[in-house]
Amino acid sequence: MEKTYIFGHKNPDTDSITSSLVMTNFEKKLGNTGAVACRLGNINKETEYVLNYLGIEAPELIEKVEEGANVILVDHNSPKESIDNLDKVNILKVVDHHKIALETSYPLFYRAEAVGCTETIMYKLYKENGIEIDKTIATLMVSAIISDTLLLKSPTTTDDDRKAVKELSEIAGINPEVYGLEMLKAGTDLSSFSIDEILNLDAKKIDFKEVKSIVNQVNTADISDVMTLKADLEARMNQIINEEGLDLFMLLITDIVNSNSQVIALGKSASLVEKAYGVKLENNTALLKGVVSRKKQVVPVMTENA
Ligand code: MN
Ligand code: MN
Repeated sequence: MEKTYIFGHKNPDTDSITSSLVMTNFEKKLGNTGAVACRLGNINKETEYVLNYLGIEAPELIEKVEEGANVILVDHNSPKESIDNLDKVNILKVVDHHKIALETSYPLFYRAEAVGCTETIMYKLYKENGIEIDKTIATLMVSAIISDTLLLKSPTTTDDDRKAVKELSEIAGINPEVYGLEMLKAGTDLSSFSIDEILNLDAKKIDFKEVKSIVNQVNTADISDVMTLKADLEARMNQIINEEGLDLFMLLITDIVNSNSQVIALGKSASLVEKAYGVKLENNTALLKGVVSRKKQVVPVMTENA
């Protein structure tokens, strides 16, 4: 059968990786035997924790797919975050929880909901189609929901996410608080990463109106730990700003225990951060109290003030 490549966004997070695996399983159950789970980048340490816990393989690493190939997008829809030749392939389906940035010249199955995680939508799709959620699938799903919502504490969290975590935890046989904190903490270990790798861990290219930006988010259990790298991070951020002609580079260092973010903001539009959050950058940095969600507390706020 013809292949269907199923993948999440570049710089994949736990939602992108698990949703690719879960969607592939779903497609196979529906009879799409050509479904292949793929990824557009390296596995991060948090996701590695999940895959090791389950003893399963990561999706296949791809850079692009052949022209005209069938693809399914999960956890993203923006061409900027996808394969480079997205306009040359046939998108069969999209399952996502981000703002819609995709235009096609043909109809497709498109499922978008304003919930905390793609896997919450996948959970609903399994239910709607009467497909059984086994222990492995449940663990993949619940891991991603915990990851995207930071243990249901992010303002992106909805009742649907809470309900899914409750039921999926039971199937998975885990205590979400205990398993979830272990998983999140596994993702905060930066010790083996170079400065470049840290700045690429979860970087997204976003334009706040005319302000060409990169927003990178790093989770930590201790902000001061990451701030010891500040000088080196800033030096490399400034280089990237020059190389890519950026107006702004925001590095969000997010404290997953206390739900705050320390921001380091560089570039000629750095003052936009001060305007958007009513803070004063001192030595290029400020604490953004209660800010943990790039999607809900950064993109709309920055765009509105740009
Ligand atoms: Mn994601
Ligand atoms: Mn997601």
